[in-house]
Amino acid sequence: MTIITHKLLEENASVGKYMHFAKDINGRYMCPNCNSSYKQKGHLVRHIKYECGVEPQFKCELCSRRFKHKSNLKAHYIFLHKFSVDETVNLQAR
Ligand SMILES: [Zn+2]
Ligand SMILES: [Zn+2]
Repeated sequence: MTIITHKLLEENASVGKYMHFAKDINGRYMCPNCNSSYKQKGHLVRHIKYECGVEPQFKCELCSRRFKHKSNLKAHYIFLHKFSVDETVNLQAR
């Protein structure tokens, strides 16, 4: 299921505009692959594209933990490894 969705996303860059998603009772768009739901369709599209079933792409160089968002990795460096905010500026996805 996940694979099919990702293939569709790759083939149609503007898929978010035309793709139909089921809504839950609160009117939130539901992810077809997991239990996540989003108020805005764009957020769901981003979730499916970058988060759902996707390996986290941001890796801590110090302890090899992985994060889905660069901001999460930055926060990890700052809070766990005591980096300053300046030191996290040049972090890249590995
Ligand atoms: Zn999902
Ligand atoms: Zn770490």
